[in-house]
Amino acid sequence: MNLDNCPRCGRLYLKNVMEMCQVCVKELEYQYEICVKYLRENKGTNIQELSDATEISIKEITRFIREGRISIANAPNMMYPCEVCGTLIREGHMCDNCRTRLRKDLTNAAQESAAAKAAKKDQTGAYRAIDKQRD
Ligand SMILES: [Zn+2]
Ligand SMILES: [Zn+2]
Repeated sequence: MNLDNCPRCGRLYLKNVMEMCQVCVKELEYQYEICVKYLRENKGTNIQELSDATEISIKEITRFIREGRISIANAPNMMYPCEVCGTLIREGHMCDNCRTRLRKDLTNAAQESAAAKAAKKDQTGAYRAIDKQRD
């Protein structure tokens, strides 16, 4: 049997596609429905208000939105926190700032590894030169 600890509540559960125990699956399903209902009736709400009214954590609501289960297209005030810095955003996982920074980091990393590769090449080149001299 494929048992694991539920990442949400820590209980031992039989592994499944939802990657959490049945209790959590049911609880999330229930929370999701409450969220959707509240949103439908209160289109002008924001995430803090929704969380207060439904007693569902912003983290869970954010997850529903990120998974695409809750659409905020019709709720102009709904925003959720950027994964990195917590700035409120309406699409993607990160705010513009973090995205730009991440892109820069990636470019830097790519440049660094290219530079490292080039340095390595130089070294092998140098070794070869020494070998040649030895011949
Ligand atoms: Zn659980
Ligand atoms: Zn951010």
